[in-house]
Amino acid sequence: MLPLYAARIEDLGPGDFVKVDCAACHHVALLTPEALLRQGLTPAAKVLDLAGRLRCRGCGRRGRAVAAAHNKPAFGFQLL
Ligand SMILES: [Zn+2]
Repeated sequence: MLPLYAARIEDLGPGDFVKVDCAACHHVALLTPEALLRQGLTPAAKVLDLAGRLRCRGCGRRGRAVAAAHNKPAFGFQLL
């Protein structure tokens, strides 16, 4: 596994998710690489850059933090 600061969307495999935290309402979303690409991100986009490009559907604030994760997906953030 690559360190998170170096990981790009294209480095994530099946079963991998990107976890995004909302600083305002503590909503947590787990996004699949496929979902991120469907929203217009490129495979070369860095995972750590995603937080500032995603907006929380719960409160409209930008995401605060991201982490790679293996978990069940949920879709609570959309691209700005
Ligand atoms: Zn929120």
